[in-house]
Amino acid sequence: MTLINLSAEAQSLNERLASLDLAGRLALAASLGGRVVFTTSLGIEDQVITHVIGQNRFDIDVVTLETGRLFPETVALISETENRYGIEIKRYFPLKEDIEAYAAQYGLNGFYDSVEARHACCGVRKVKPLARALSGAAIWITGLRRGQSGNRADTPFAEYDAERNLIKINPLADWDIEKINCLVTDEAVPINPLHARGYPSIGCEPCTRAIKPGESERAGRWWWENDEKRECGLHVPDAALPSLESSEL
Ligand code: SF4
Repeated sequence: MTLINLSAEAQSLNERLASLDLAGRLALAASLGGRVVFTTSLGIEDQVITHVIGQNRFDIDVVTLETGRLFPETVALISETENRYGIEIKRYFPLKEDIEAYAAQYGLNGFYDSVEARHACCGVRKVKPLARALSGAAIWITGLRRGQSGNRADTPFAEYDAERNLIKINPLADWDIEKINCLVTDEAVPINPLHARGYPSIGCEPCTRAIKPGESERAGRWWWENDEKRECGLHVPDAALPSLESSEL
């Protein structure tokens, strides 16, 4: 399909998805044809999506980026979730040679030293594995919500991702955290125990801290950086990550 067609398709999907419930949105995504991939971080939003995929046996590949720096609680939750729903969550790891090259240039924990070093680490541990995970995909499903941060306030239900040439669907775009919590409680969805310890958003262990009262949900991610729009590069175009050259992805 051409760029113009995909862009128009995303616009049309955006309108159709708005009127559906979560199961309906995922059913529509699964019906679009081609490989449909859901990337889960095992965070609470993603667990809700996995729950609905598992319950309905939707033909959607569930994958995760096993960065090698995840919390043990997150790693344990991958297997727990697979067992609960009888699905496979395919793990995508960084390449050993990329980690060695990063460590040689910046030091294993060099991400604390500069934004460039941090983006480079996310590049090898997340962005490159994501590219492998999405290889051949027509549809990419994410758990992004508008309420997670100011940077995500305009998240649509569907958008054309020109960089990856696919349609990205965000079926929880309009959900708030109260609605997420209700479903998790009502349907006993397995979640990361760190959420109860002040971690609404959970990434790699060295780069995530608990938030303080009044802070935004993603304030605990890369907290030492001042940029309010800090992201890992998975949901922003390359051009917005000046230190991540396309050739590194
Ligand atoms: S979140 Fe931290 S440890 Fe994880 S990939 Fe990014 S910089 Fe590296």
